[in-house]
Amino acid sequence: MDNQTHQFGDPTRKVTLLGMFLNITLIVGKLWGGIAGHSTALVADAVHSISDLFSDILVLWGLKIGEKGPDTDHHFGHGKMETIATMGMGVLIIATGIGIGVEAASKIRGESQVSPDLIVLAIALVSLLSKEAIFHYTKITGERFKRPVLISNAWHHRSDALSSLTVLVGAAGARIKPDWGFLDFYAAILVSLLIIKSGVSIFIEATKDIVDTAPDPELCRKIEDVAKSTPGVVEIHDIKIRRSGRFILVYLEIGVAPEMSVREAAGIAENLEKNVRRELEEAIEVSVSIRPARSYNIEC
Ligand SMILES: [Zn+2]
Ligand SMILES: [Zn+2]
Repeated sequence: MDNQTHQFGDPTRKVTLLGMFLNITLIVGKLWGGIAGHSTALVADAVHSISDLFSDILVLWGLKIGEKGPDTDHHFGHGKMETIATMGMGVLIIATGIGIGVEAASKIRGESQVSPDLIVLAIALVSLLSKEAIFHYTKITGERFKRPVLISNAWHHRSDALSSLTVLVGAAGARIKPDWGFLDFYAAILVSLLIIKSGVSIFIEATKDIVDTAPDPELCRKIEDVAKSTPGVVEIHDIKIRRSGRFILVYLEIGVAPEMSVREAAGIAENLEKNVRRELEEAIEVSVSIRPARSYNIEC
């Protein structure tokens, strides 16, 4: 962590708490506005904001545990626990989406609807703009500190913004022409589909971490460059990378001059390990295997 972190507190935690505060404000505003202003879609959106609070708690847990280094029980750190938090968040979002859809569909054949009040439009607009703002803030912070759980939470904020947009469209349509009151219901169903979609993609993204999907080739090339510039490394036979939450685990197989002593070769491996860790602070584990050089190189 850099100096700024120590001075102003953990920015990843700060942005999550800010999002949490926004969610609480939106729950109150949407519930009140939805009931007083006759909008099922806005009430559904409020219920969704309540579920957002649970995902905020999950994010805070994921951020805290995912940061922990190796201990006696978890030799490769706790990064995958952050991944589990991310997956849990995906499930939570999908469940909420299904709930809203079922709720809206069960009411669609009900009695004729009252046109939503102007307050519904105002609250939906405030929700849309504030959620879009927190999306950008959270995404920038998540990318800066390489926290998957935070980046997922950012996209969650974006899906919340979209869901408020559909409420806005539905309510506006119903106000323009009272017969269009049903638009509000369709808006709620659209909200539900959007939320399910965002939940599924968050879940799938996290699954890639669990099944050790290789990271982008750019990272592999970076490590290759470090290895090539480390004195004594004659060949690179293999590079394997696994993700574990915000961390990566690197396996390297290098070729050194065959006549070299074990002591010298081990020194080269140690230097390489240090260089990789220096270049990539997220490398929690770097393991280097030494082979006698056989004069060929593999590409990433
Ligand atoms: Zn949400
Ligand atoms: Zn542990």
